[in-house]
Amino acid sequence: MNEVKNMNEFDIIVVGAGPGGSIAAKVAAENGYTTCILEKETVSENGRYKACGGALAWELVEEIDYPENKIGRIIESLELHHVDGSNYSKKGKGAVVWRSTFDKFLMDMAIESGAHLEEKNALINITNNHDMYKIEAQEGSFQAKYVIAADGVSSETLKKLQWPYFQSEDLILTITKEMSTSKTHIDNTLGNDTVHLFFGKNLIPVGYAWLFPKEKTITVGWGNQINLITNSRKEFDQFVNLEYVQNALVNSELSIFKPHLIPVGLRSILYNERVFAVGDAGGIVDPISGKGIPYAMMSGKFAIEAIMKGEKRDKLDKLGSYYEQALDRNFLRILKAKRVARDTIFQTDENLKKFLSLWENYRSSEIVMKKLMDK
Ligand SMILES: Cc1cc2nc3c(=O)[nH]c(=O)nc-3n(C[C@H](O)[C@H](O)[C@H](O)COP(=O)(O)OP(=O)(O)OC[C@H]3O[C@@H](n4cnc5c(N)ncnc54)[C@H](O)[C@@H]3O)c2cc1C
Repeated sequence: MNEVKNMNEFDIIVVGAGPGGSIAAKVAAENGYTTCILEKETVSENGRYKACGGALAWELVEEIDYPENKIGRIIESLELHHVDGSNYSKKGKGAVVWRSTFDKFLMDMAIESGAHLEEKNALINITNNHDMYKIEAQEGSFQAKYVIAADGVSSETLKKLQWPYFQSEDLILTITKEMSTSKTHIDNTLGNDTVHLFFGKNLIPVGYAWLFPKEKTITVGWGNQINLITNSRKEFDQFVNLEYVQNALVNSELSIFKPHLIPVGLRSILYNERVFAVGDAGGIVDPISGKGIPYAMMSGKFAIEAIMKGEKRDKLDKLGSYYEQALDRNFLRILKAKRVARDTIFQTDENLKKFLSLWENYRSSEIVMKKLMDK
């Protein structure tokens, strides 16, 4: 480890500098692996816009010591609106962040730990040659023994390696609009510390919509299971035309419009021949809420820990089970149960409202694991 090799040869190549890739690269470099991150975009606070609500639990903000001056807004509560007019409130501290700023913060941690970043250098192809992967990138070729595929839901790495893709019922198509307005207007219409989620079978059959306030911007989002959509723009507009939403968006200006996919079911494999699927590339996302940032970060860490354990015990044939055991032990078992529960929750408006009323007082994982919907 860490010995000087051919300039483009590394122990580990991480493809993608999102939260999953950056944490994998940080943990790898800290533990002495020569690590290279290939990222197709520029990683900067003004870098590529990433469609994301950017909601984080406060525990995560504290755990990574994320600076308050980089937070878009501190949140104290969640308002859950059903379109038939019923409302539910959930208390809980969190933060809403801009992903370019957040991703840059995590990327800097990886670089400080010794990882090498190749930005604006996308993976184009990957082949497995005698225990080494060869990666063709836009600029140059690279080699590594291990590959972390952290390049998101449409992972080119896994596509080129011919891993199976997601089922259509496991993909949510989202549309995000960033609407610029004033802080006072946000405070008066949405509250100064509240995010809003909107549910209802005739609004969105399997999914939900949201208004997430940042300092002077409202992130307007909508997501529905892709195979149930007939006209996404029209369905998105149906949400935006709700009186509550119109009121919040009056006099605001569109700054960004972006569609993006969220995987809400796992890939059928998460590991094969020294390649690990991390974060969205593996579908490691909460199937009910679409929350993926913390799971991407944890899966990046567990992938590297699996390599360390396999090497230490001289059991490289066990890397996949070490990885999946760590995921399962920590959260994957719950995400799998949530994937099953999701079908029931979104089956009828009655079920949805029962879930929302339970969610006021319980974590969604408690509702699912304690089978509170059945009581
Ligand atoms: C609309 C929307 C709202 C969301 N809201 C939330 C939320 O509020 N809270 C939450 O926790 N989660 C949310 N999520 C989910 C969250 O965004 C993802 O789960 C998270 O970004 C996954 O991180 P990742 O590192 O796996 O992948 P990504 O963040 O997708 O990062 C992948 C990286 O790989 C790079 N890349 C892609 N292809 C290549 C290539 N060929 N070569 C090199 N690099 C490449 C990309 O440029 C990107 O930087 C939301 C998602 C969407 C779409």
